[in-house]
Amino acid sequence: PPISIAIDGYSSTGKSTLARRLARDLGYIYIDSGAMYRAVTYYALSNGLLDEESAHKPLLDSLDHIDLEFRKAADGQQAHIFLNCRDVEREIRTLEVSRYVSPVAALGPVRKKLVALQRGMGQRGGVVMDGRDIGTVVLPDAELKIFMTASPEIRAERRYDELRARGDQVSYAEVLENVRQRDHLDSTREISPLQQAEDALVVDNSQMTLEEQYGYVRELVNQ
Ligand code: C5P
Repeated sequence: PPISIAIDGYSSTGKSTLARRLARDLGYIYIDSGAMYRAVTYYALSNGLLDEESAHKPLLDSLDHIDLEFRKAADGQQAHIFLNCRDVEREIRTLEVSRYVSPVAALGPVRKKLVALQRGMGQRGGVVMDGRDIGTVVLPDAELKIFMTASPEIRAERRYDELRARGDQVSYAEVLENVRQRDHLDSTREISPLQQAEDALVVDNSQMTLEEQYGYVRELVNQ
């Protein structure tokens, strides 16, 4: 029977690469929960809704106007995130969105809305979901939980390469700074901080190649 797989961990640990491949090979749905937090942040930035002084009240007042969905992209197989019926998969990956996403993801009403959506998407099983609180909060009954880590430098290098490959003018130093900043904010926030579930298995990919990680996790699924 189809199971639920939760993959959590720090930023840019390769969660989505592993999760996507696993979902494809098992014929499961892949849900990128980080894309949902990014899309809310992108919406807030585009509409000038961030206001630190009021704990981002303009954004909280607008949450009902944000509609999120994963759909097949026009050009291919992969599911993209659609914000109010528009494909924003590319727009949500900028360093600017990465700079604002952690404070947005720390807001209670934002998490409440997105966790409810994620639970709905995951309720029938046959799903691989990646994020920060999937094994602890969103799908606490997931049959398989993986927690991914790697050194900040390795993760920043990976993110830097991705951003440069798409033509973004960023420096390695600012990407590393962002990775560290998000790790800190995500693991110290009050509501559902990034945490390893008690029953999660750790994959440290500073030590393992992609193939080794995939082989290890595939083995776990088969058990
Ligand atoms: O996975 P990704 O790095 O794209 O996630 C972007 C941000 O969204 C994280 O740094 C974190 O602040 C937030 N996030 C979260 N809970 C999740 C997934 C992502 O708080 N389940």
